[in-house]
Amino acid sequence: MAVKHLKMKEGGRVEFPIGKGGKSIYINYDWCKGCGVCIAFCPKEVFDASALEQPVPTRIEDCTQCMICVHGCPDFAIVISDTSGKAKMHPEAELIAKSNAK
Ligand code: SF4
Ligand code: SF4
Repeated sequence: MAVKHLKMKEGGRVEFPIGKGGKSIYINYDWCKGCGVCIAFCPKEVFDASALEQPVPTRIEDCTQCMICVHGCPDFAIVISDTSGKAKMHPEAELIAKSNAK
């Protein structure tokens, strides 16, 4: 199902509060290529596809924070914040960031 109100490209990193434990799903729409992996593999069917095939968490209240979407995104475009507000990075993205910092 396409989400009509997101026909226009969302820019940058967008926060979607989950509403449990102060956590949020952050989606970087500049990095997302619309491959659909997160939409297909979310066990709770949290996402609908926008007109650009990018994920929109229309059923975010069902999110169990299982992290499948975070770990499955090939472009590191999804993160879920921890309770301190610090975003959890994809493990490989974290390694890349650490090696770039050296
Ligand atoms: S964390 Fe799990 S339940 Fe939540 S949106 Fe991602 S895949 Fe779906
Ligand atoms: S898996 Fe990543 S790149 Fe693919 S649609 Fe989801 S957010 Fe976009």
